[in-house]
Amino acid sequence: MSANLTPRAKFATTLLRTAAALSRATGRGDGSVIGGRVGLIVEPRLLELLAEGRHVVLISGTNGKTTTTRFTTAAIEAIGKVATNSFGANMPTGHTTALAKAPKAEYAALECDEHYLGQLLDAASPKVVALLNLSRDQLDRAMEVTALAAKWRQTLQTSAGQSTIVANADDPLIVWAASVCQRVVWVAAGQSWTADSAICPNCGSHLDRFGEFWRCTNCGLNRPSPQWSVAQEGEAVVGPDGRRYELNLQLPGRVNRANAATALAVASLFGVDPAQAAPRLSEVASVAGRYAKVEREGRQLRLLLAKNPAGWLESFDMIEPNPPVVLSLNAREVDGFDTSWIYDVDFTSLAGRKVVVTGDRRTDLAVRLEVDGVDFIVVDDIRAAIAAVPPGQVEVVANYTAFQDIRAEFNRVN
Ligand SMILES: [Zn+2]
Repeated sequence: MSANLTPRAKFATTLLRTAAALSRATGRGDGSVIGGRVGLIVEPRLLELLAEGRHVVLISGTNGKTTTTRFTTAAIEAIGKVATNSFGANMPTGHTTALAKAPKAEYAALECDEHYLGQLLDAASPKVVALLNLSRDQLDRAMEVTALAAKWRQTLQTSAGQSTIVANADDPLIVWAASVCQRVVWVAAGQSWTADSAICPNCGSHLDRFGEFWRCTNCGLNRPSPQWSVAQEGEAVVGPDGRRYELNLQLPGRVNRANAATALAVASLFGVDPAQAAPRLSEVASVAGRYAKVEREGRQLRLLLAKNPAGWLESFDMIEPNPPVVLSLNAREVDGFDTSWIYDVDFTSLAGRKVVVTGDRRTDLAVRLEVDGVDFIVVDDIRAAIAAVPPGQVEVVANYTAFQDIRAEFNRVN
């Protein structure tokens, strides 16, 4: 670990910490990005040097990486200190800062932006790489997702020699990318969004699906047998030996049970007994503000972030069946200006409940709900939304900047 750092790397680490602290003190976020940038200018190999000698896991995919990283960290902490980028600064600057801030941590759990996986494989020489899912982002089209899977496949072939891959057997793009690796542990982590994988990523032919099994009609690419899965009944993960590990998660939905399955699979590769790790996951109550519960005027709001089509579908699976639902949609730069992707999302599961629509693009959302036959009311902002529902539980689903706006309204800023 950092005991062996060169004088230049030590100096770079000191500057990194100072820059991050200054950024925090002046109220410009947690300082991860600026700190990392400063450190990497002084010592371009800083990430590599800080990662050396540690047991690293990288966690990547379109959805669930922040939560899975948090679960994995909680699990591995059963046996030692873990460096992690817990606030989602998931590019090399954020990774460098996470490692610099925890010089004594023997382990590192790093959430990795999909486009930086190759760079991190080279710099951090991870023991384990967890690949969750790939689906279109709000800014992408399906073709770009296949291109990303092809890039992963190539980078894993050249750079993942020493790593064990923990991969989602239910996502054909992930299976295709990971199947070039020597050591793969398959997890049945589910796929709520199948629209981007109707076609075989390997040969372009049609994929047949029978229940959870899928197979290419031409080249034979198919769903590998998973070693880890989410239990069909109750809230549990089933491990390789068929043993059940009960979950008592505070985070909702099948998606989070799948994230827990991946975390337990990763942690067991680090030598953590899953029976010891599973109860630790129930301590996670919110992740960078997601799933947080806030209260106003007798309404208890639970805040769900849904950044892309798959995320919206997953959030509908997470919400309780009865409470009113507030949907908030913006289309600022990081959200993508084009909201046409909402037509790829099926909103019919919301029919019959009280739905309140808000956000900059509330009228786009209103038209979409009209098409799906969902009754709704439109209001100007989250305050009006709160006034429009009776006291009690409220589920709030918002995309990125809409979510940040709502957090700001409740004075919750990271
Ligand atoms: Zn095929």
